Amino acid sequence: MPTQSRDLALYLHIPFCTSKCGYCDFNSYEGLGHLADGYTDALLGELDLWAPATRDFTVRTVFFGGGTPSLTALEDMRAFTDRIRERYAVAPDAEWSLEANPGELTREHLEGLRATGINRLSIGVQSLHDDELTMLERGHNAARAIEAVRAARAAGFDNLNMDLIFGLIGQPLARWQDTLERALELSPEHLSCYALTVEPGTALYYQVAKGLLQEPDPDVVADHYEWTRKRLARAGYRQYELSNWARPGRECRHNLVYWHAEPYLGLGAGAHSFFTGRRFANIDAPNRYIEAITASLEERATSGTGTLRQIAGGETPDADTQRADAMILGLRLLEGVSSTEFAVRFGVTPDEAFPHAIAKHLATGLLTRVPPPHGDRLRLTPRGLLLSNEVFVDLLPDPPGDER
Ligand code: SF4
Repeated sequence: MPTQSRDLALYLHIPFCTSKCGYCDFNSYEGLGHLADGYTDALLGELDLWAPATRDFTVRTVFFGGGTPSLTALEDMRAFTDRIRERYAVAPDAEWSLEANPGELTREHLEGLRATGINRLSIGVQSLHDDELTMLERGHNAARAIEAVRAARAAGFDNLNMDLIFGLIGQPLARWQDTLERALELSPEHLSCYALTVEPGTALYYQVAKGLLQEPDPDVVADHYEWTRKRLARAGYRQYELSNWARPGRECRHNLVYWHAEPYLGLGAGAHSFFTGRRFANIDAPNRYIEAITASLEERATSGTGTLRQIAGGETPDADTQRADAMILGLRLLEGVSSTEFAVRFGVTPDEAFPHAIAKHLATGLLTRVPPPHGDRLRLTPRGLLLSNEVFVDLLPDPPGDER
């Protein structure tokens, strides 16, 4: 965990989807394709607005997330990547990731993406069973997902992630095992395996609330997770985060920036940033985001200063919040949090900052210490990986009864 970093991660949000999946609580929309051109102009404009503030930074990672970034026309992708290279100092070995749905990944589109400099694809496969994909309201079937991965290889992508979901409602372990085994046959460099969560406000949430569907059984989900950890370890993947596994050296560098609580700048509707010590987020609604950027650019053209009107709100986290963020994000990583590095960064060790939470969860067996010489780290135990929220909630600043 470095103390000060002039490295920067850039995130660009593409909020459009062909249809809204029932479980999805991301800032994504179906039926807004007519906004795509205006949105591209706005995102290019936002890149211009931020560029002067990033002069002292080197961009190490760029991540196009969504929504469905793979819906973006190739000429717009080229415009984004060109603009980033023109206006920002980008490291020659930067990681350029793009989230993609199998439906758009034709050979031609993939070759076009590769030509823009995108060098990592994260493919939203989710399941390799058609009935499960229908239940998740995904727009592809298993055969298309497999074809998309093969086409990505043929187009020259040598750094692929597959997103998969386990613990689906009513999913027997054997079905998840089959999905993961077939995914392993495709030899991705990286796997993100998430448990299905029923997020408030989603279509799935209302179906569960009405009793039409049952929430996934936590014991079944735990069994899927445990099996996944063992199987992927046997297959040579290193688990480096609660839900992420990689071949050695193929960890997602962009997401590591978040977990190390280092600076990132999020552009686009609803994107979040942690930059120059502030946390802030853009307006969620794409049409209002476009209006705000347009007004900022007009103001800059007439008066020379451009207020960043797209920012919906933010805060400068106080010291307690910064420590809690660093601890919670850092414990998501299997390597855990180094006491020495934490002390250099915050002036106190984790034990001094969170004496009661740490003592409690060393006692519950959810946390453990990795002693020198191998480290001076605190990390989650295997049981802690399953019950991480019980630890995280005790690290939050000022919860009722907290004695810090
Ligand atoms: S494709 Fe992804 S972002 Fe779009 S609705 Fe489905 S889960 Fe959400």
